[in-house]
Amino acid sequence: MSLRVVFLGTAGSIPTTKRSLPAIAIRRKDELILFDCGEGAQRQMIQARIGFHRKTKVFITHMHGDHVLGLPGLFQTMSLLDRDKKLEIYGPPKIKAFVEAIQQTVQFTLTFPIEVSEIEKAGLICEEKEYEIHAIWTDHGIPSLAYALIEKPRPGRFHQEKAKSLGVPKGPLWSRLQHGSTVKLPDGRIVKPEDVLGPPRPGRKIVYTGDTRPLEELVELAENADLLIHEATFDDELIERTRENGHSTPSQAAETAKKAGAKWLVLTHISARYKEPKLLLEQAKKIFPKVDVAEDFMEIELPLLDKNY
Ligand code: ZN
Repeated sequence: MSLRVVFLGTAGSIPTTKRSLPAIAIRRKDELILFDCGEGAQRQMIQARIGFHRKTKVFITHMHGDHVLGLPGLFQTMSLLDRDKKLEIYGPPKIKAFVEAIQQTVQFTLTFPIEVSEIEKAGLICEEKEYEIHAIWTDHGIPSLAYALIEKPRPGRFHQEKAKSLGVPKGPLWSRLQHGSTVKLPDGRIVKPEDVLGPPRPGRKIVYTGDTRPLEELVELAENADLLIHEATFDDELIERTRENGHSTPSQAAETAKKAGAKWLVLTHISARYKEPKLLLEQAKKIFPKVDVAEDFMEIELPLLDKNY
């Protein structure tokens, strides 16, 4: 089952000819999850061929304009395309007032319901059947969140031979065992899922930092992440400026990835001063080898790992 990350905007603060403002799309089954919604996000979505009619959740990290000003345009485009599915928005305090202000002042007809959840407490903020979203507060000067998308473990592999040898007739009973239910056979014997299933298979984990200084809680959030998307606004030489502005350098991002045991680090929120990101990449690579600098429209596919089972 595919889990695809599309970087829609990878700039920090102001857009450049090559980089749009922060927005990351994650496509999972029939659902779209957006992390941040910088200006022009909807045009980037068109270019990346991401539809506007999917079940969609938007997670805003903080209320700095570069991360949130794409919402009005997104609402308008979705409405003009007659979206009718609910749009869920999660974000820090003031996100509700912002969305209400758009609806009250911008003249357009909204064709779909919007549900806004203002996050007040870190922790589990959204639970679905197959995944959870966790949030922590970061260190950025204003209330700012980092998010983790964590897939729940899937039931282990179904061993047909074991089911057959236990005399479980093929059909609905197989299916119930596969989905984790205990079943009673026609002759009265009980068969438990663990009798016929391998160990549970782990899901995938993606962490997005938003804007932040280095933070111990971030290391915890990113523990064993398959993908850590970390801001790296300025390079290591500008560490003082980075600290003053509540950001991170490539080395700091790489340290977090290393301590967390993340599998893959992608740097984003790149300052307009870097016409080309080689320097940022080199600085991070010294500490954490599996690293890339995001570009607009870069795509990452995270496969399900079934190894060892
Ligand atoms: Zn910011």
